[in-house]
Amino acid sequence: MMKLTDKFGRVHDYVRISLIDKCNLNCIYCNPSNSLVRYEANSSILSYEELYRLISIFVKDLGVKKIRFTGGEPLIRKDVIKFFEMIYPLKKQYGFEIGITTNGAQLTDKIESLKSLGVDKLNISLDTLNSRKFIAITGKDLFYRTVTAIEKAVALNFKAVKVNMVVVKNINDEELTDFVEYFKSYPVELRFIEYMPFTGNQWDDSKFLSWKEMKARIEEKFVLNEIESDGKVSKDFLVEGENLKLGFISSISDHFCDSCNRLRITATGKIKNCLFANPSELSLKSLLSGESTSDETIINFILNSLNSKRMKHPGANELTKLNQNNMMSIGG
Ligand code: SAM
Repeated sequence: MMKLTDKFGRVHDYVRISLIDKCNLNCIYCNPSNSLVRYEANSSILSYEELYRLISIFVKDLGVKKIRFTGGEPLIRKDVIKFFEMIYPLKKQYGFEIGITTNGAQLTDKIESLKSLGVDKLNISLDTLNSRKFIAITGKDLFYRTVTAIEKAVALNFKAVKVNMVVVKNINDEELTDFVEYFKSYPVELRFIEYMPFTGNQWDDSKFLSWKEMKARIEEKFVLNEIESDGKVSKDFLVEGENLKLGFISSISDHFCDSCNRLRITATGKIKNCLFANPSELSLKSLLSGESTSDETIINFILNSLNSKRMKHPGANELTKLNQNNMMSIGG
């Protein structure tokens, strides 16, 4: 089978697809309520039929082993369960792994269906354990919904449940050890993410905490023992004396581009070969909707886009200057 290999020999077997470029939360670091970023009209996002075709090409012809659905908030897309029903036969036939990244606010009533439709892994975003601060960070009073969703995910025995915390200095960095304390009895993995600059999110150095600083804060209270990281994307540790694994995502202070195996598809069907690259000029949408377009043409389009992938993304200062690079449309 053909593989998605770039110029530097990196094999891409992991695709992240944004299901929608809208969110029900206004997280200050991602989708601030005063953001000027415009979203596409619904009609320009990939339809479920187009997504089905794209996914089948990835898993059947291009050796993709893992697909993660994200957004925006993937679970606010209309009839999202029907979409997972549509792709379930593909999952059964080709055996790829399915993950979802979600803020959890709309998860609880869908979680059993998602589990029975082959979703393996859930990443749930939670940046604070304080319900009032949750409102300050997200603009919505939905803390308990997210926490309930985490509880339910744990009870349903997904292959993995990760809790993602974006750490922003003077906003939630004081809660690092609280997170470890709170989750140490849960079978979840904690992931502390460095705050990244995106268009309109008012990133600046003074709000940034590197993974090493986060680790040092946690080590004031806990002993961390380094372990081999699965995908080499995070720096992983076990908390001594506890059953808790935690990882740091160091995209800014120590990028992990040399082991990058990811390709991203925006909600409108553009290919992003790096979180910080310009998306492909053309969208896959017109190709996927045209019945006369062969799979080979679509495969060539994907390969061409991968071919322009850079060895590594620029540093934080360059990233702050990028236009129209917002998490909502990319799919984080
Ligand atoms: N709505 C979903 C959620 O909240 O998980 C999925 C989309 S969200 C863009 C995906 C991930 O990107 C979340 O874990 C979120 O916390 C993270 N994220 C968003 N903006 C970020 C930023 N500026 N720096 C680091 N991580 C960010």
